[in-house]
Amino acid sequence: MAALARSVLVTGSSRGIGLELVRQLAASPQPPQHIFATCRDPKGPRGKALQELAAQHASIKLVQLDTVNLPSIQGAMQAVGSHLKDQGLNLLINNAGISSHATLHSLDSQEMLDVFATNVVGPLQEFLPLLEQAAKGVGKEGLSCSRAAVINVSSKLGSIGLCLGLPEAPMYPYRASKAAQNMVTRCLAVELQDKGILCVAIHPGWVKTDMGTEKAPLTVEHSVRGILTVLASLSQDASGAFLDWDGNSVPW
Ligand code: NDP
Repeated sequence: MAALARSVLVTGSSRGIGLELVRQLAASPQPPQHIFATCRDPKGPRGKALQELAAQHASIKLVQLDTVNLPSIQGAMQAVGSHLKDQGLNLLINNAGISSHATLHSLDSQEMLDVFATNVVGPLQEFLPLLEQAAKGVGKEGLSCSRAAVINVSSKLGSIGLCLGLPEAPMYPYRASKAAQNMVTRCLAVELQDKGILCVAIHPGWVKTDMGTEKAPLTVEHSVRGILTVLASLSQDASGAFLDWDGNSVPW
């Protein structure tokens, strides 16, 4: 099986789904040549698991990237761009996210804005030139993760159509942020299609991580195995879709 992509960047890879994405990508039979594992504190204690992983795989490069700090994003873009030279970045996985359990009565506007800043805005604008460069690569046609793609890790809790489990999990800021991120994904898919860049929102399932808690039914290994299988299968028709880790469509 061919590599999913020559180069991949994952945000929020210090733990949870992001860390497992980096682990499985690096361990795959045909690993990407460059895996940019980004996190807020790659040299500090929170980056320890990533440091250990990078010591085992030459393909992993640790890059500092705080998704709500513009100079940090710009620094990451420059580091990644100079590493890749003129080949561009094939796959950007916007995974970093924060949760919020605020209810209708407890939510305040600052919390709403903080969750929105992390979960919706992300580093896409800054990385767009690198994605466009990859999309123009010689002999690349159609849309795929191996050519150029933006994958936004979303959540079923952001589905307006489903509006799942509100009494047990009101989570107003989190749900609203993921619904907004979904709209961004749809708009990007339309706008970037002609540039050769595929855009998809993916729900990882309810996963045992710090965010998903131990109560979640899915292990992080299972969820990420599914996500990577789905990513490898994506083509032109899937751009602008909202899929789960098993490849099923999720209502917007
Ligand atoms: P975790 O809480 O386990 O990990 C979140 C990751 O995001 C950490 O690496 C954290 O870094 C990083 N992060 C948070 N804020 C920033 C920031 N400003 N800049 C850079 N990195 C940041 O969450 P999961 O792994 O469970 O979630 C990953 C994604 O999956 C999220 O987008 C989440 O919404 C989504 N998701 C998860 C579900 C689940 O059941 N777990 C269900 C549906 C969606 P640090 O270590 O520095 O805090």
